[in-house]
Amino acid sequence: MKDSQVSQANLIGGEWAASSHSRSNINPSDTDDVIGQYSSADADTVDAAVAAARSAFPAWAAAGPQARHDLLDAVGSELLARKEEIGRFLAREEGKTVAEAIGETARAGQVFKFFAGEALRVAGDAQPSVRPDIDVEVTREPVGIVGLITPWNFPIAIPAWKVAPALAYGNCVVLKPADLTPGCAHVITELLHRHGCPPGVFNLVMGPGSTVGEAIIAHPGIDAISFTGSAGVGARIAETCGRLRKKVQVEMGGKNPMVVMDDADLDTAIQTCLNGAFFSTGQRCTASSRLIVQRGIHDAFVEALSREMTALKVGDALDTTTQIGPVVDERQLASNLDYIELARGEADAVIGGERLELEKPGFYQAPALFLGTDNGMRINREEIFGPCASVIEVADFDEALAVANDTEFGLSAGICTTNLKHANTFRRHVQAGMVMVNLPTAGVDYHVPFGGRKGSSYGAREQGRYAVEFYTTVKTSYISA
Ligand code: NAP
Repeated sequence: MKDSQVSQANLIGGEWAASSHSRSNINPSDTDDVIGQYSSADADTVDAAVAAARSAFPAWAAAGPQARHDLLDAVGSELLARKEEIGRFLAREEGKTVAEAIGETARAGQVFKFFAGEALRVAGDAQPSVRPDIDVEVTREPVGIVGLITPWNFPIAIPAWKVAPALAYGNCVVLKPADLTPGCAHVITELLHRHGCPPGVFNLVMGPGSTVGEAIIAHPGIDAISFTGSAGVGARIAETCGRLRKKVQVEMGGKNPMVVMDDADLDTAIQTCLNGAFFSTGQRCTASSRLIVQRGIHDAFVEALSREMTALKVGDALDTTTQIGPVVDERQLASNLDYIELARGEADAVIGGERLELEKPGFYQAPALFLGTDNGMRINREEIFGPCASVIEVADFDEALAVANDTEFGLSAGICTTNLKHANTFRRHVQAGMVMVNLPTAGVDYHVPFGGRKGSSYGAREQGRYAVEFYTTVKTSYISA
């Protein structure tokens, strides 16, 4: 065991609870580096967490907004103050570059501070009745106990953008982070605990989705589920919650289009696509995986993008000169390599995409660009979730828009153009929850709604003031005095 290795427990009812089973957490940049042992919960642990949350709920629901504000504000401030240190830990655990990881940690801090403010603002409204001498008041109440299930690719930002609004609006929480990256969720847990979160208001249960996740979904003591992860798991969870009549919100994958028009500024288009497709190792639900390029700019675009892409430095996430960190684990890398093999059969040509053996043993892959592809190919229908992108050549704007919309997903979409009419027509007609003009599909703000449509999202939006829709329930009161 290295000095830096730690042993981490779940948090149940305000007490650290180690379990007899634990899982080693490995640095994807260096598989010899074991980060720590993280307790694995089981169905009994979930029962205990739900019981603790239920007993804490009446007092937390009745606690004034000031208490909720102060807790969230303190956590947010500490995340911001320690963003370099926590960011380096995130890079070591998940594999995004240090700069990206510090940015993600800062975003988590901002999210906590944003919802600290929202805790003071949550309000209903008074409305006139259609009958005389009656007042109508619409108020918002917490949903109750919320089960939060998060993926590994934004291991601190996604727990933050679920936990902060849940607590701000008076709910109690049972959080299950991804089994690959429990460490970042553990950091948030430590901060909440140390800044005085009342026992049971927030509970952490780490462990596999197939057991701990399933137990949370099915638990009769949990009122609502917010899930972020893959489309297959999300669809099953939405179905189960429908059957159990639980409020549910699922955020899933994408196959995000980035259109490059002949009239685009070439440098802007290259930087936008480079960032959108390959940064964060392409492991973003909003990654630009389909580059839809008009005929007149196609050859110059492919030449410049291939040159820039092959020059990107792939390496240890903790090395500050690295531009592309490792893939998260062996299973994800094997899946990427399978798709790259498929692309060798489907596309006209594949640039890059080989597994890289570097100085340290890690899950390294060269970014891959698939040329001469058609939107009907499997590589353009299924989410790969790695540093891989396809180029699809189109004749004109109408074809570009049709191809952009020809997908089961609808998370983010972008266009590079200097033509205002193209930009506006695309913005109006593209079937996506988020639209970018001359910006990567993947960079979003922390204080505005996040989410998609079609097969990417189901339920209320996350982030920003719209989060109130999921984490509260509305009551309409009629008062005759
Ligand atoms: P995943 O395999 O679906 O897992 C997500 C979470 O669900 C993990 O905590 C996982 O636990 C848990 N889980 C798995 N099976 C479960 C089950 N049967 N019941 C309950 N919980 C279960 O996704 P991932 O590989 O972690 O993340 C990558 C995916 O997330 C990509 O598809 C990406 O596009 C999507 N994503 C979407 C957004 C968005 O906001 N739209 C943001 C980020 C990522 P384990 O850790 O044990 O597997």
